[in-house]
Amino acid sequence: MIATLLLASLLIQDPPSELRVQDLQAHIGFLASDELEGRESGERGEKLAVQYIVQQWERLGLKPIAPDGAYTLAFEAAGKKCTNTAALLPGTDPKLADQILVIGAHHDHAGIGGPGSPGGMGNPGEIHNGADDNASGTAGVIELAEWFAAHPTRRPILFMTFSAEERGLLGSADFVAHPPFPLQNIRAMLNCDMIGRSSDGYLFLGGLGTADEFHALLDPIIENSGLKVEKSDDGMAPSDNSSFHAAGVPALFFFTHIHPDYHMPGDDADKINYPGEVAVLQLVRAIVQAIQDHDGPLTFHERPEMGMPADFNERMSEHFQHIMQRRSLHGSAGLRVIEADGALVLDELREEAPARKAGLQKDDRLVSVNGMPVADKEQLRRALASGQKGEVVTIVVRRGGAERQFQVTLE
Ligand SMILES: [Zn+2]
Repeated sequence: MIATLLLASLLIQDPPSELRVQDLQAHIGFLASDELEGRESGERGEKLAVQYIVQQWERLGLKPIAPDGAYTLAFEAAGKKCTNTAALLPGTDPKLADQILVIGAHHDHAGIGGPGSPGGMGNPGEIHNGADDNASGTAGVIELAEWFAAHPTRRPILFMTFSAEERGLLGSADFVAHPPFPLQNIRAMLNCDMIGRSSDGYLFLGGLGTADEFHALLDPIIENSGLKVEKSDDGMAPSDNSSFHAAGVPALFFFTHIHPDYHMPGDDADKINYPGEVAVLQLVRAIVQAIQDHDGPLTFHERPEMGMPADFNERMSEHFQHIMQRRSLHGSAGLRVIEADGALVLDELREEAPARKAGLQKDDRLVSVNGMPVADKEQLRRALASGQKGEVVTIVVRRGGAERQFQVTLE
């Protein structure tokens, strides 16, 4: 972890003059690394992510807004302590201090799958790195914060990252329910959720109908962006902008569409289109500048419909079909284990269990699976996570003082 953090800080040089591919690579590379275990809200991985994000807010000299002077805002969800982050960049005109623009992204993801994991679609034990969902948005918010810290606007910007989005937008809902300042001071909200997989310059931009002035103000910028922007006026999305919209705040949603790795263990940093994300962020930046320079009102307009790409449902159902197919190929060894004295000991195996057919028996102590040591259930899950039906795995056990090796065909 330390090595990665060091690498990230070496790559980010100041003063920042542009939105940079290398910075995004450093942020996403860390946030979506296996060390963060899929950043499940309330778990160790999220705490490491929050620590990293807070380091960025400190580095950029942004201001905490929590009553206790912290960059973190904690709340409880699913019986766990979850943490949003918030950092304020004051505007250059003190008279406009109560006209805040929020730029946000959720930093949590699906963890390592299995029961209780929010939305992970891989096999239990596989790390869902969530590089696009939503290390991409988190990195984008950090990169925008860096740029605006060097180029402040007249009105303040509040940079936020949300927890427990994957549990049902809980972090953003908690923030609008318990804001540390009057909610009417938030003029608009921009939400980046999955902005790292733009292909051919595609971007979905939702919520354009949530302020009466957005079209006149933003359409020319969108047309000149060079991106293929699919626009929607609708205010709702399965993401944090919906919480702000529901609280009466004009809110925009930036999204480069789903892909075969959506909520799957393969959502990795090396699949991000970094120059594509920079292009998206250039448009977000231009929109921020237009909103911040706009002296008239932004008039909230409720748009309760779900606004998503036209082919979203179609692509989502294709995605689910692929997952079902992948699941049906997943093979099991039929192991039943109990943890005892720092080792895994086999329980009584079902008669038809592949492990039993291969010769394993009750009270065998597991040593390794395919060469990977397995001392606890978590390690065992990981060792068998990607096994497919028909695949042969080598299981080493200790029986009566001697190590013995078995070839188990997964079923
Ligand atoms: Zn997600």
